[in-house]
Amino acid sequence: MNRSVAFYTLGCKLNFSETSSIGNKLAEIGYSKKDFTEGADVYVINTCSVTDHADRKCKKVVNEALRYNPNAYVVVMGCYAQLKPEEIATIPGVDLVLGASEKFKLNEYLDSIQKNETTKIARSPIKEVRDFVPGFSAGDRTRTFLKVQDGCDYFCTFCTIPLARGSSRSFNVDETLKVASELATGDVKEIVLTGCNLGDFGIQHQQTFFDLIKELDKLQGIERFRISSIEPNLLEDGIIDFVAKSNKFVPHFHIPLQSGSNKILKAMRRKYERELYQEKVERIKTIMPHCAIGVDVIVGFPGETEEDFLETYTFLNELDITYLHVFPYSERPQTTAVKLPDSVPLKVRGERTEQLRNLSEKKRIQFYQSFLNQTFPVLFEKEEKGGKMFGFTPNYLKIETEYDPLRVNEIANVTLNKLSSDTKTILGEILYYEPIHT
Ligand code: SF4
Repeated sequence: MNRSVAFYTLGCKLNFSETSSIGNKLAEIGYSKKDFTEGADVYVINTCSVTDHADRKCKKVVNEALRYNPNAYVVVMGCYAQLKPEEIATIPGVDLVLGASEKFKLNEYLDSIQKNETTKIARSPIKEVRDFVPGFSAGDRTRTFLKVQDGCDYFCTFCTIPLARGSSRSFNVDETLKVASELATGDVKEIVLTGCNLGDFGIQHQQTFFDLIKELDKLQGIERFRISSIEPNLLEDGIIDFVAKSNKFVPHFHIPLQSGSNKILKAMRRKYERELYQEKVERIKTIMPHCAIGVDVIVGFPGETEEDFLETYTFLNELDITYLHVFPYSERPQTTAVKLPDSVPLKVRGERTEQLRNLSEKKRIQFYQSFLNQTFPVLFEKEEKGGKMFGFTPNYLKIETEYDPLRVNEIANVTLNKLSSDTKTILGEILYYEPIHT
């Protein structure tokens, strides 16, 4: 077969790892991969339902694809496709819409890529989506994102994930280790464990995420494991203590908070209160003062008053965290939160977002400054920008040095000299020429 395919991924790391795996499957049946702008025979758009204006974004990418090849066969899949297949089918130029299960069988749907008048939709009801399909991003990024869990049973009132991806599921520990071992035989240095609700790993096998990380820690051939995100109620103290002692699990946690007001947490149907969150952060920083802690926050949730927001702001300001990912609340169809009263005006959501983003910058810069003149192992990535290259320390400091192609995907000891002029990175000096292993 002599066909080419190009991908466009919207959304999270999980989507990236799935796009990558689906791409590898197509390569096995003879598809060659092209860049988006190169005019491929087939365009595959992996969508997200969490992204704002998913419909507009999807339409835009479809139009772009058809600009590069007006005769291209266009496939739209992923979370938005599961939630709104008919809506996507009305976008001119879309040939095939695949739901949460069907996307993994894309190869079977591409027998004929003849464009037709009508759009084909293949999508099972979400209750029937039960299989776990593992995946990892290979060759696309220096760090490899390994999908170890999918779906979620929590039904937070603002979130569409349970509707778009189905219930929580994963492989068991042994099966997951097998997938990770494949990566360990290649030149992967860092694996980022990803999932929708990662801490819920193993639930249908009576196993836990803690069971998984204890086994992964023994895996030869991988230098670093990073936990992408874990709910505070699932972050057992045992996991924190284990990461503190591990040579492979890096001192970096990303823990969604969403609000610092217990009233709003309850309305969001989150499974913890701010006190538990604080306890987790304090435990981490007591045993790992150098640990990076990222926080997701939603501002402008229905009913969030100025006092509620200030409670969040003050809570975060006083907490020893590193950076925030701030999202203005956005109404998602089919969720409970859209029906809640006391909607917060968009302008106020924007102002609160900005205030927290400023706080995030302040916190991150303080964190960066506290490590100047120290030496850390840095794993360099392949991106080159203006003769510079970038890499990350275990505790997620972004380091910048002169570009050297030999350093890509290598770990080197770097002394952290000073903040870059835009304060986004730390300018570093490599200590040893030979790559080292940590
Ligand atoms: S835990 Fe995360 S994925 Fe699950 S419903 Fe809540 S926000 Fe969505």
